[in-house]
Amino acid sequence: MQRTVSEQLYAEAKQYFPGGVSSPVRAFKSVKGVPLFIKKGDGCHVWDEDDNEFIDFCCSWGPLILGHNNAKIREAICDTVAHGTSFGTPTRWENKLGETILANNKYIDKVRFVSSGTEAVMSAIRLARGYTKKDKIVKFEGCYHGHVDSLLVKAGSGLVTFGVSTSAGIPQGFVQETLVLPLNDLEATEKMFKEQGDEIAAAIIEPVPANNGLLLQDKSYLEGLRQLCTQYNILLIFDEVISGFRVGFEGAAGYYDIQPDIVTYGKIIGGGMPVGAYGASGTIMGSVAPDGPVYQAGTLSGNPVAMTAGYTAAIQLLEPNFYEDMEAKTQAFVAKLQEHCDAKGYPVRISTIGSIFWIAFSKDRIQRADQIDPASMDYFKTLHADLLDRGIYLGPSGYEVGFVSAAHTPEVLDHAANVICECMDRIVW
Ligand SMILES: *Cc1c(COP(=O)(O)O)cnc(C)c1O
Repeated sequence: MQRTVSEQLYAEAKQYFPGGVSSPVRAFKSVKGVPLFIKKGDGCHVWDEDDNEFIDFCCSWGPLILGHNNAKIREAICDTVAHGTSFGTPTRWENKLGETILANNKYIDKVRFVSSGTEAVMSAIRLARGYTKKDKIVKFEGCYHGHVDSLLVKAGSGLVTFGVSTSAGIPQGFVQETLVLPLNDLEATEKMFKEQGDEIAAAIIEPVPANNGLLLQDKSYLEGLRQLCTQYNILLIFDEVISGFRVGFEGAAGYYDIQPDIVTYGKIIGGGMPVGAYGASGTIMGSVAPDGPVYQAGTLSGNPVAMTAGYTAAIQLLEPNFYEDMEAKTQAFVAKLQEHCDAKGYPVRISTIGSIFWIAFSKDRIQRADQIDPASMDYFKTLHADLLDRGIYLGPSGYEVGFVSAAHTPEVLDHAANVICECMDRIVW
């Protein structure tokens, strides 16, 4: 397979952008070869600049639940764009998306639109602090919440409960406001809440942790966390940037039927355009400016083109059985892969929820970040390169999950499963 055009474009891009990219994982540092420069997407396929065709399981990192170039979204965008792209005023398109979301989500009463998942999380954290008048935030090791300063923090070593930053440029003072807990450990959570609950504004979690493998939690754990937050007067923030509109229209809150205090959205909510949002009860959202004292704003927030795209996506997601069908075909795909690996005795476990899947090179059920063996990523590198040559595009890191879209037909999935099984057979175990 030729990749000469991508190679040329990447060499050029490195002169313009750090690492040649606008977002780090795209640089293919965790896999072999150079990033593919994609020029076109349609349905479940993408085409690179060398005219190679791929079945895409990255789906722009999650937003494209309806596949590439969804005709309804494209047409709605074109209609809106014909009247201009931004006014900096309220528009009826915001109302439409807001109404559609709120009428079909019993966990939030009001919502504020922003332009990315990071911005949604950053704003939710400020809201939690402003509302509770407390400063500390608890996060969970293995959860990603965008590149928010205070959340680029991982657990410190030993008995230190405050974290250490995972990026340069973050003041120690910010890091000290963030406490880090392991996932799936209510005992450690209760201990921390008991000791420091008076200072903790919020605990933020990906209820479906899907940015560091797929670290599926038990419902009982999430319920326990909910209960502890209530008991210690700590707001529970569900970061649903990846799970929102993915595991169901109401995201993980609906999937597990757990009421968070604040929810953040991103990715799917914009129908492929840059949109994020945060929502909560009317009381909590009453703290947001201009109604309340927590300031948050955005020049392009609620952008009409993006709102149209989000709305046109949302109404398609609300069609009967949309999520049931997505889950059923994803499960069939995963079952086929798992059966093959089991029959051959490969140390592979594929976890799945809704239309998300993750291939782990381990036989164990993995629920915490520290259970992932970094050495197992070598298997992923081999698989990734081999799959690219065979026309299948997985996100370029073994820590990234795969996404099935509405455009992946059972036939395409069956073909992809066969190819993946063949590539598994070529791995030297
Ligand atoms: C992708 C993601 C973010 C960051 O969203 P961006 O739009 O990339 O800023 C935050 N939280 C979670 C759970 C995510 O998956």
